[in-house]
Amino acid sequence: MSTQPASPDVVVVGSFNVDHVWRTDALPAPGATHGGEYASGPGGKGFNQATAAARSGARTAFVCALGDDVGGQLARALATADGIDLRDQRSPSPTGTAGIFVDAQGRNSIVIGPGANACLDTGFIDAQRDTIAAAGVTLAQLESPIEAVTAALRHARDTGRLAMLNPAPANVAVPRDLLAMADLLTPNETECAGLFARHLGERIDGDAVAYLDSPRLHALCRDLLPGGTVVITLGAAGCFVSHPDNATRGDDTAWYRLGAETVAVVDTTGAGDAFSGALAAALATRPGEPFAALLRDASRYAALSTERPGAATAMPTREEVAARFGG
Ligand code: AMP
Repeated sequence: MSTQPASPDVVVVGSFNVDHVWRTDALPAPGATHGGEYASGPGGKGFNQATAAARSGARTAFVCALGDDVGGQLARALATADGIDLRDQRSPSPTGTAGIFVDAQGRNSIVIGPGANACLDTGFIDAQRDTIAAAGVTLAQLESPIEAVTAALRHARDTGRLAMLNPAPANVAVPRDLLAMADLLTPNETECAGLFARHLGERIDGDAVAYLDSPRLHALCRDLLPGGTVVITLGAAGCFVSHPDNATRGDDTAWYRLGAETVAVVDTTGAGDAFSGALAAALATRPGEPFAALLRDASRYAALSTERPGAATAMPTREEVAARFGG
């Protein structure tokens, strides 16, 4: 007798990349050849977030597009190792890749070949509707076609589930239609400044977002996403939360700031992905708990991820987070 896999708690819709990273003294100028240390590993915001959700203890499905190549095989093997229910659309394009040069000061130059990620189509998303309807939270980012991301969040919305958008990377514009689908938005400062500029006509420097006074930041968030919660991540300064005034999700106040944990930072790549994945997992598996408690745990999870190099491979388990910060 065959058994059906249990419904996921979290569905992540997004990208998978094979990251190729070269560490070199200086970034190569045009025409120059440099030697450097090479490493490769899994990446892509979607896969990073799916890994974070799974290692946070949520049953996680990951919806993506992969090529028929070694990159696709890597994604399948890694998903299996983390117990992630992989729903991959097979694409004739190669699996997504990123070429990353990092210099001795930690500065980087990155080229992304989206490959299969650009082929994720709405028909494939529509075929996942029952899975999305059964999960508590659907989480997406902007490294996949906007139409596919919008369809995924629309299915979550239409079936009464939580639709969560991490509007990253910052260079992708978020159309009004997509914003309207989100119940929860998790931009960093740069992404937040871009959203304020595009949708509210407010020109604020990304570096200045953290220093805006809180009532003003709350008012801007309310204008941006009137019916939903905005969590702005502020790196080592933690995060700012803005709920609709009439729906504070169990918190005492509609807006507040939460400081970050103090950690020995090695590499902050993927910290935002760790945060969004862990928050999605907490929301899906601990309904009824105050939002602030879930947020604190997501913040601890993200902080611990910065103590290791890499992104997906740096995601801790919930046991490691509990051992470090207490239960
Ligand atoms: P970011 O995307 O850089 O804003 O980071 C996302 C989240 O990761 C933050 O809201 C923090 O919870 C955590 N984080 C990032 N950088 C640090 C850091 N240097 N120290 C502690 N936590 C951090």
